[in-house]
Amino acid sequence: MFGVWGRILDVDLDTNTSRILDVPEEVFRKFVGGRGLAAWLLWDELGDRWESVDPLGPENLLLVLTGPLTGYYPGAKLVVSGKSPQSNGVVGSTVSSELAVDIKTAGYDGLIIRGASETPVYIYVDSHGAQIRDASPLWGLGGLKLIAALNHLLESDLNAGRGLDVVPSYIYIGPAGENLVRTSVVMSKLTHAAGYGGYGALMGSKKVKAVVAKGSGPMPPVHDSEGFARAWREALGELCDRMRTFRYWGTTQGLWTTGYRTSSEPIKNWMEEWHNIRAFTHEVLERKCWVRNLWSDWGCPTSCMKVSKVLDNGTTYVTDGPDYEMGAYLGSNLGVFDMPSVVKLSALADELGLCGIQTGNVLGFAIELFERGYLSRVDVGCELRWGNVECVRKFMEDIAYRRGLGGLMAEGTYRAALKLSTSKGVDLLKYAVQVKGIAVGAHGVRSGLDYPQKIAYAGSVQGGDHTSTAGTPVKSTESEAFSAFLDSAVVCIFNTMEVEKLVTYMNVVTGWGLTEDDLYASGVRILTLQRVLLLLGGPDVFWDPRVHDDNPERFYEPLPGGPKAGGAPRREDVRIELGRYYSELGWDELGIPKEETLERLGLVELAREIGRVKARLGINA
Ligand code: SF4
Repeated sequence: MFGVWGRILDVDLDTNTSRILDVPEEVFRKFVGGRGLAAWLLWDELGDRWESVDPLGPENLLLVLTGPLTGYYPGAKLVVSGKSPQSNGVVGSTVSSELAVDIKTAGYDGLIIRGASETPVYIYVDSHGAQIRDASPLWGLGGLKLIAALNHLLESDLNAGRGLDVVPSYIYIGPAGENLVRTSVVMSKLTHAAGYGGYGALMGSKKVKAVVAKGSGPMPPVHDSEGFARAWREALGELCDRMRTFRYWGTTQGLWTTGYRTSSEPIKNWMEEWHNIRAFTHEVLERKCWVRNLWSDWGCPTSCMKVSKVLDNGTTYVTDGPDYEMGAYLGSNLGVFDMPSVVKLSALADELGLCGIQTGNVLGFAIELFERGYLSRVDVGCELRWGNVECVRKFMEDIAYRRGLGGLMAEGTYRAALKLSTSKGVDLLKYAVQVKGIAVGAHGVRSGLDYPQKIAYAGSVQGGDHTSTAGTPVKSTESEAFSAFLDSAVVCIFNTMEVEKLVTYMNVVTGWGLTEDDLYASGVRILTLQRVLLLLGGPDVFWDPRVHDDNPERFYEPLPGGPKAGGAPRREDVRIELGRYYSELGWDELGIPKEETLERLGLVELAREIGRVKARLGINA
């Protein structure tokens, strides 16, 4: 095999053992790696009883996977996955981390972590396998102290002649993951997060505080080393040229361009999507908070990361960016338009291991309920109003530690809205800006000026994930089939190139002889499998495509201001467009894959799961 080892390290926390799981090349050719491989592994092991598997129970699998392009393509990412505690489907959640390269140079394509430990542990991986080590002293620590303590613990490995000359790389959870908060993340490098999916809670349910790896061997061989050297040089050259503006500003420029130009930024729980507040721009952020302009992930010339620092009352707050999504969700969405405050909230989210998007979304939902009188000072403990940074900060901690009302909001926007609607006897779901349990990323669809199409979230297999949006035509870089492929290969979405070049890159590394059609077919195969597992759902919530393949209610309210004031998609048009999209994918009008599609994609065994979906929905098989 080229580009991959065909070996996954399978770690069992119940028995304290690990073994090698061989994965045939045929599986990689069909599902590529990363996100696709995660969907296949989960289906293979849990598919026959998916609906009854509790995402936070020991039966679920935590997957940490690389792809064929990991380490061979600028910017090293890995995919964290499992049955999602947010959607009850499969989400491929990507994060930049040197751990991806360490896992690969230790001789594996990834890790399966199964079972659950009774006491806190961390998993140490090298070419000899996995060691499950005591993490009791680490439990409860936030990012900064955890990293210092981990580095100290790992000194013995450095001194024990394990061939380490630098500290190994790691992913980890903060207090939010330990407390099974569904808006928690798997963190890396203090500020990076695998956000969508809620996998911090899955890791916490297994009592795994961190996964540490040190690879000291080679990468798997490539098929055509000269072709690869050429492709690597060309990619570096192209990214250096093409990404100049992006290199300088990263995604933070979205605070102005998305808010002012494309009118698609979440403002006050999406009541508005347009602003012209000059104090809330990337330029002000640069002037007031940036201490470092270029910070790069492994092997990436794009270097889109920035570092911000704020000193306040003797406390130092450091975060990256904040990138556009963090800035929008912990800033404008909460009515906070002061950059140093946004940096403080972003640094707090990093420290607690909370997802800025999911948590900023549930905070916006909670503030709107407070402003409308559904929640009170007695419920929250402070005046949870737009722009009240101190109260937001306190409530964020309540969520991370599941204190009081924070415990309910820790369930994420959808589940909190369901429960509150029942307890208060009013429909509060209309204020929940999410799709299938996943908060919508910070790019709206109402203005029609930003990249997501009106079906972007309604038809996505990853709910509100702005990095994996549904769109037509399916055979285009606009489509979710393309994102599914990128997350499987595993490539940073900012570093993509023309499809033709990407295919060449894949072929020199893997020798698979892919065509552009094959690339999209792999994407559709992965989406098809994810779609069926999402529709199986359970055990606490299930999705009915007739109800849940839709935009949040708020996205049908006309935009109050900006260049597209009054704009909103019509629900009938969304339904028509979804029908077209499903038809292109080979799915029926409800988005259920057809028999001939399963045959074409080599997924005929999936008919068993589709039968169960149809039975639940009361549709004749
Ligand atoms: S483009 Fe940015 S996010 Fe992507 S790998 Fe490079 S530095 Fe990381």
